Amino acid sequence: MFNNLTDKLDKAFHILKGHGKITDVNVADTLKEVRRALLDADVNFKIAKEFTTKVKEKAIGENVLTTLQPGQLLVKIVKDELTELMGGDVAGINLSGTPSVILMSGLQGSGKTTFSGKLANFLKSKKGKKTLLVACDIYRPAAINQLHVVGDQIGVEVYSEPENKNPVEIAQNAIKHAKANGFNVVIVDTAGRLAVDEEMMTEIANVHKAIQPQETLFVVDAMTGQDAVNTAKAFNDRLNFDGVILTKLDGDTRGGAAISIKSVVNKPIKFIGTGEKMDAIDVFYPSRMADRILGMGDVVSLVERAQEQYDEEEARKLQKKIAKNEFGFDDFLSQIQQIKKMGSMKDLVGMIPGAGKALKDVEIEDDAFKHIEAIIQSMTPAERSKPSLIDVKRKNRIAKGAGRKIEDVNQLMKQFEQMSKMMKMMQGGGGKNLMKMMGG
Ligand code: GDP
Repeated sequence: MFNNLTDKLDKAFHILKGHGKITDVNVADTLKEVRRALLDADVNFKIAKEFTTKVKEKAIGENVLTTLQPGQLLVKIVKDELTELMGGDVAGINLSGTPSVILMSGLQGSGKTTFSGKLANFLKSKKGKKTLLVACDIYRPAAINQLHVVGDQIGVEVYSEPENKNPVEIAQNAIKHAKANGFNVVIVDTAGRLAVDEEMMTEIANVHKAIQPQETLFVVDAMTGQDAVNTAKAFNDRLNFDGVILTKLDGDTRGGAAISIKSVVNKPIKFIGTGEKMDAIDVFYPSRMADRILGMGDVVSLVERAQEQYDEEEARKLQKKIAKNEFGFDDFLSQIQQIKKMGSMKDLVGMIPGAGKALKDVEIEDDAFKHIEAIIQSMTPAERSKPSLIDVKRKNRIAKGAGRKIEDVNQLMKQFEQMSKMMKMMQGGGGKNLMKMMGG
């Protein structure tokens, strides 16, 4: 996520590790590097300076130099301060209205329409809310279509009036429609411009005044760094919004926006967007983000995602199959599909502590399982449940069918065999054999 920043912070803390004895001189050097890392990440100068001053004060207050592990304590202080800077606690959204109205604001291209869809999908699937999406962009017919496409994809109704050129009216009519039809939430997607301009601000301010939303959210592209912070300021001055949505955090973002925005507009980041797909949305947890920035991964989110996908019934069935030695390629395929539902490989790897750093120069494909799936799909059902049926001739055909080399098929079959062996061992020896195998 923030590879560059994580790298630089890691190097800053390395100054302490390199010395036998920690002195106030090398603590000061470390903090200077921390500040430089923040500035490189496009964090506002004043915020970066205040940040390191605070860390220094705390370090003195907690007598860092006299503790047993001064380096670790300093990292902890930095982590706590980063968490605080990004808002401290997690901030929820207000869904108290009947219906609750959420107004989306932001520049064109920030990811507003995509996020409106993601939020509708999130509220529908995670909170069981009947949600209505409203297209209020009266300038670009394509924007209305885009929202309809998104709505179809996630099975959420979209309200639009393509002939009406009055966004206030459209929004009000949509809310009436929602009330009459028992919707719990109304998400109003508005028109954006390429840059902040008066006409757009007046228009959205009018919509805001007329519909009095429970939540006004400001969507911003995290890749735009300091610009994101300035745009946030301009929108907040007019709308006094309730929260920020940071999108495109899956890209190579420098991190400045995530770190600075809260302290500049004094509004919390509520959600983040981490991809183009409808499920690429996460609640923003400041402390988990601080962990990720410091290269500590995000195990809590990883476990949560695994739990969301965990199906007890399926797990039991799988266990039986393994015990009976019936685990086949079809089961392997469905395991892969479950992992894929947890998120993109890049995203998942980033959540494993240390993995981001270890693999930072490795190009991870978004769909890392594509080739494996193609190979398995080229096998016959009989071959999938009994791989020993596959001879050299068939291997060649399977490779051809999947557009891969025969070596790839061989490799997959070997991996599969090893995995089956390992699973049997875990069943038989209560994990003891597995520990042995891994050298434990
Ligand atoms: P709008 O003009 O603000 O409504 O922006 P759109 O929703 O049309 O998004 C603009 C572009 O950004 C589209 O190509 C989206 O697919 C893409 N996009 C939106 N959110 C994300 C995200 O979280 N990650 C990535 N990688 N792309 C995104």
